[in-house]
Amino acid sequence: MGFDQRVVASLVALLSMLACAPSEGAIVPAASGSRQPNASMGAPGIGDPDFPFDGNGGYDVSHYGLAIGYTPSSKHLDGVATINATTTQPLSRFNLDLSGLEVSDVTVNGEKAIFSRTGSELSVLPATPLGDKAAFAVKVTYAGVPKPVKDSSNLGTFGFIPTPDGAFVACEPDGAKTWYPANDHPADKASYDFTITVPEGVTALANGEQVGEPTTADGKTTFRWREKHPMVSYLATATIGKFELHKGRTPGGIPNFAAVDPKHRGSLNNLFNVSGEVTDYWSKIFGPYPFSSTGGMIDDFAAGYALENQTKPLYGGFAPDQSIIAHELAHQWFGDSLSIKRWRDLWLNEGFATYAEWLWAEHKGTNTADQLFQTFHARPASDPIWKYPPGRAQARDLFNDSVYTRGGMTLHALRKAIGDETFFKLLKTWTADHKYGSVTTEEFIALAEKLSGKDLTSLFNAWLFTAAKPD
Ligand SMILES: [Zn+2]
Repeated sequence: MGFDQRVVASLVALLSMLACAPSEGAIVPAASGSRQPNASMGAPGIGDPDFPFDGNGGYDVSHYGLAIGYTPSSKHLDGVATINATTTQPLSRFNLDLSGLEVSDVTVNGEKAIFSRTGSELSVLPATPLGDKAAFAVKVTYAGVPKPVKDSSNLGTFGFIPTPDGAFVACEPDGAKTWYPANDHPADKASYDFTITVPEGVTALANGEQVGEPTTADGKTTFRWREKHPMVSYLATATIGKFELHKGRTPGGIPNFAAVDPKHRGSLNNLFNVSGEVTDYWSKIFGPYPFSSTGGMIDDFAAGYALENQTKPLYGGFAPDQSIIAHELAHQWFGDSLSIKRWRDLWLNEGFATYAEWLWAEHKGTNTADQLFQTFHARPASDPIWKYPPGRAQARDLFNDSVYTRGGMTLHALRKAIGDETFFKLLKTWTADHKYGSVTTEEFIALAEKLSGKDLTSLFNAWLFTAAKPD
């Protein structure tokens, strides 16, 4: 995620006003309680200590088939989600994450299942209990008016956000549940098929590539998209509205797809061209591009941020400059192909994407990473960035400036310590070793030490884990 610098200042002011608002009460999900949990019940959370009810235990999703109908005028969504998964334990009951919306039917392997709702937990009781390591398919039929998450501590509104002509869908950190039932945590990655039906004249955009041409019948058009590479739930999108499109390839030959709301038509070619140039350059610096297409979308919802939706970053109501395009496309490697197992490791996404902005400036000759590092390092010891160790992102303040800027500075300090040759080899080895996988900070530190042959404990401790300004 990256921020439109022009709105950051006003957002910070707003957030400080909202800082005293009461936090949401913890929701006790249906499958937990004071009793010793039954061994065959899936846990209501995937095991992230900072987000205890995000994701679910007991299974691993391999594929989401999402058939969505959406009518912008009524904001009504209807959906059928077919989820293919494999159990990691015997399951007599398991949960999915879904907030709001009305569930009318759930089947497991074609048999009607009993289900219940508590908070954002959809608890499913299959007619036939599932064994260990069993492949199963759960189908959820649901409908309603999606309600995005409004979370003042994590920068505003996210999830499925209705707009006058459609919807702006950006879900970090846990807004996927606002529009489809999910194992809504980045630790569980899956491939996706999207079948999105909208009124004729409206365009539906999703991750990956289009499957066939859209088909129109009875005043409605159906768009089909497929992301065949593993993707985390918050990167899935079904962005809907009036769009102008530019399709082609990057100079290096990667399929490139840019889409802009008509209000931003003047930015369409720039978005297409810069996204192509950046994707090609990062492919040289970070290793081969991990997905089958690149691009970007500008919608007219003034989110004040951009999200690195897999293959199609989404820019919220502003024309992105080169720096933020460089940031969001760097996430295709750091955050999308390699995703975090726990939210506290978010600097592995944001520190790297921030450092990519500095590398882009260096590439363009507008600045050097070292000059940028020096500028930030000159902040006084009283600056809040030094009190927030970026290696432990905090659940109620995930997108703190430290996770971005001090995270990026960590990489520059590392680059200076191990030299350019080892540093850039490290970036490529990191993206190759964990392509489409899940990563932790400990794994990155171990690889940096292995490739450099150096003990980097004190460097990482000072930059990532200490609430004080490093030397
Ligand atoms: Zn970012």
